Amino acid sequence: AAQKETLEFQTEVRQLLNLMIHSLYSNKEIFLRELISNASDACDKLRFEALGDDALFEGETELRIRVEYDKEARTVTVSDNGIGMNREEVIENIGTIAKSGTRQFLEALSGDKAKDANLIGQFGVGFYSAFIVADEVTVTTRRAGLGPEHGVRWISKGEGEFTIENVDRPGRGTEVTLHLREGEDEFLEPFRLRNIIHKYSDHISLPIEMKAEDKDEYETVNSASALWARPKKEISDEEYREFYKHVAHDFEEPLTWTHNHVEGKQSYTSLLYIPRRAPFDLYERERRRGIKLYVRRVFIMDDADQLMPQYLRFVRGVVDSDDLPLNISREILQHNRMIDTIRGASVKKVLGLLEGMAKDEPEKYQDFWQQFGMVMKEGPAEDFANRERIARLLRFASTHNDGAEQTVSLDDYIARMQDGQDKIYYISAENHTAARHSPHMEVFRKKGIEVLLLSDRVDEWLVSHLTEYDGKPLVSIAKGDLDLDRLEDEKEQEEIKQAEGEFKDILERMQKVLGEEVKEVRLSHRLTDSPSCLVLEENEMAMHLQRVLKQAGH
Ligand code: ADP
Ligand code: MG
Repeated sequence: AAQKETLEFQTEVRQLLNLMIHSLYSNKEIFLRELISNASDACDKLRFEALGDDALFEGETELRIRVEYDKEARTVTVSDNGIGMNREEVIENIGTIAKSGTRQFLEALSGDKAKDANLIGQFGVGFYSAFIVADEVTVTTRRAGLGPEHGVRWISKGEGEFTIENVDRPGRGTEVTLHLREGEDEFLEPFRLRNIIHKYSDHISLPIEMKAEDKDEYETVNSASALWARPKKEISDEEYREFYKHVAHDFEEPLTWTHNHVEGKQSYTSLLYIPRRAPFDLYERERRRGIKLYVRRVFIMDDADQLMPQYLRFVRGVVDSDDLPLNISREILQHNRMIDTIRGASVKKVLGLLEGMAKDEPEKYQDFWQQFGMVMKEGPAEDFANRERIARLLRFASTHNDGAEQTVSLDDYIARMQDGQDKIYYISAENHTAARHSPHMEVFRKKGIEVLLLSDRVDEWLVSHLTEYDGKPLVSIAKGDLDLDRLEDEKEQEEIKQAEGEFKDILERMQKVLGEEVKEVRLSHRLTDSPSCLVLEENEMAMHLQRVLKQAGH
């Protein structure tokens, strides 16, 4: 199919483009960062594929990125000699289809320009950011290993459509040429371009080259060493932040990070980041990206999910091992002892990072919890060894506070326990209001005993795995016998005994009437205002979980 075709962007892509051009205008120089980031990824991919097939280098092993400009034609070009793309890949990657999560993203938009401009930052803009400054973009590319006749040219004005055709292209890799919009001539100034490269792309481990002012030679503009391999002391926060945006494909700054050079039986470096905001696809199965694995500075794979457990799947960054073989595959990763060691240590680093934040920067930790708390609650079930540490990081809504915000830690709860109280009480319900107003709550309200209010979907799962903390059992106030006796004073105990005698008859009669409908009719100490309520046996599933399962056909 050498002929030229005109294809349309998916509606979502069109909407996104439009929004981006208008909302990112004040930060337009980031287009260069995005294009360089893609060029760097493409070189990483080539180096990796070439591990198995040297011929892909086509005799040219020096990978590099170039930035050029043409004042007369008013164009800026970013080129790489990386993996390149074939025709299908061009259509798939920068063509018709929007990235996963685009639809949810667009649904989250309010129509309010200022608010939406904030949102687009979270979404990650990538290749399309070229249209902020360009009224026409041309991509010419050839995939490594294919003949020169397999070159592809893609052209678009970023409106509704693009054209694609096959062209001859001797060199492998990709060249992206931006025809600048009226008034964007600042990007034709070499000084300006060099500045932007320094600001955003210094951490890129490949050379980024520009023509020297006077000679007809290329020179390297960035420092071109892998950021994570450098000593920590030599890296500025600004560099760490920019590197994050590149590895995480995120537009926003990270919340925090931890950088570790480990030497010993095994040597490796890890640079792990906590994002500021949960991505739109945090709960999607198709979700990609996580930790990038390198071996001795050579990129091996994206989203090496063996390096982080599921409940820390929001962590981004790089692990670079000195000891793993270069030809390691995903299959091998799953049963590799070195990987297990790195993973174990990385989990501890992340937990330590979070513990430090919770202690020293509680407000920041609260922001973190808002974004990722639901995922962290999967932790005690998944990571038995670290259960206690994870539990200490959990936050809940509770009767101690008014709102639904999850701010109470188990340690906070324990510090407020009453004399004689040896259990951590919680109620779980379909939503916060239902939890707070549960009739089971009455006796606790009366006695002033704090109750954790659980209403996230994952909470039932959590408490079925986290049955105690700091030696104190977690107990649902809707299940079994509450065993509050120790908290009653003598007078109350006396009254209860008396009541049990008085109500013996009526209880027996009710049991007869209700028959099989209930297991037992009991005199309750839980209620102070409501006349009666349903109680579950200790090991029965919570009511709403029973309902959920029934709906799902169980
Ligand atoms: P992201 O980089 O987050 O995947 P982008 O919008 O920046 O999103 O790029 C979309 C896709 O286009 C990339 O994932 C990649 O497959 C492809 N792509 C972009 N630029 C290049 C390039 N220079 N070489 C090869 N592939 C590229
Ligand atoms: Mg990109």
